[in-house]
Amino acid sequence: MIKNIATPGRTKEILEKHGFSFKKSLGQNFLIDVNILNQIAEAAGMSEQDGVIEVGPGIGALTEQFAKRVKQVEAFEIDGRLIPILEDTLSPYTNVSIHHEDVLKADVKKVLKEKLQTVKETAVVGNLPYYVTTPILMKLLEQRLPVTRIVVMIQKEVADRIAAKPGSKEYGSLSIAVQYYSKAATVMTVPKTVFVPRPNVDSAVLRLEIRDKAPVDVKDEQFFFQVVRASFAQRRKTIWNNLQHNLLGKERKNLLADALEQADIDPKRRGETLSMEEFAHLSNQLYERIT
Ligand code: SAM
Repeated sequence: MIKNIATPGRTKEILEKHGFSFKKSLGQNFLIDVNILNQIAEAAGMSEQDGVIEVGPGIGALTEQFAKRVKQVEAFEIDGRLIPILEDTLSPYTNVSIHHEDVLKADVKKVLKEKLQTVKETAVVGNLPYYVTTPILMKLLEQRLPVTRIVVMIQKEVADRIAAKPGSKEYGSLSIAVQYYSKAATVMTVPKTVFVPRPNVDSAVLRLEIRDKAPVDVKDEQFFFQVVRASFAQRRKTIWNNLQHNLLGKERKNLLADALEQADIDPKRRGETLSMEEFAHLSNQLYERIT
C-alpha cells in the first residue's frame, strides 16, 4: 500500500530527503491533512473518465488524490526544484504529467486539447499560491477553457469577495467578474493548522461552476467590466461620482444622467447595491450613447 504524501510525517521525510526549503515568494504552503485533500477532491466531483488540470502541485499532495480518482492529471508547477521531487513522489502513478511552467504564461488550452481530448469532463483544481490567486482565476475564466468547474483553495477573504451577493460589504468588481463566467460558492473553510508552513490567513475552498452562457446580455464585455470597475473605484462614493470621475468625465454628465435614468438607477446609489443585471443595463445604455 502506498503511503499518502500529505501526512505530516511523510511530508517531512520528503522535504528532508530532497533538502527542500520553502519559498514564501512562490506562495508555498503545503497541505498536510489527507482529510482536507479528500474533501477538495470530492468537491471537484470528478470520476475515472474525467481529467484534471492542477495549478501548483508542490510535492504532489493533491495531485496524488486526483491521480487515484481520475483518468489523467496535467499539473503546472513554476518551481524547478519541485520537478525531481514530484517525479519521485508521484512515481507510482502513470496518469500524471508535470509541466514545469508558470501557469500564467502556459498555454493551458493547448494542453487541454492535446492531452485531455479523450476525457469526458475536466476540472481545474489547486491549492493556489495566494500571491497570484486573482490573476490565475481571471486568466482561467477569461480564456473560456472548456472545463466544467474550478475548485481551488484560496484565502478565505478572497473567496468571500468572489462569492458575495449585492448589498454585502464583500461585493465588488471581483464578485461580478467571476460570477459573470461562473456560479461561485464557498465549499468549506479551512484552518491554518493544515499547512506547512502555516499561512497568516484563513483559507477556504471555492467552487466555480462554469456557465455555458453569460447570465446577462452585454453589448460590449470590455466596456461592461470598465463600467463595473469604475463604479467601485471609491466604494463610499455614489455611482454618479464614480462614473463621472473614473470613466466619463464631467463633460459627459448629461449623457450619464440620461443613461442612469433609462436604466432606472438612482444616481445616488452606491455600486455595491447594483445587481449584475443593473450593471448590464447601465453599461448597455452608456455604450449606445458613446459609440
Ligand atoms: N498543491 C500543493 C499542496 O497543496 O500542498 C502546493 C500548494 S502551494 C500553496 C502553491 C504551489 O504553487 C507551490 O508549489 C508553488 O511553487 C506553485 N506556484 C506558485 N506560483 C505558480 C505559478 N505562477 N504557476 C504554477 N505554479 C505556481
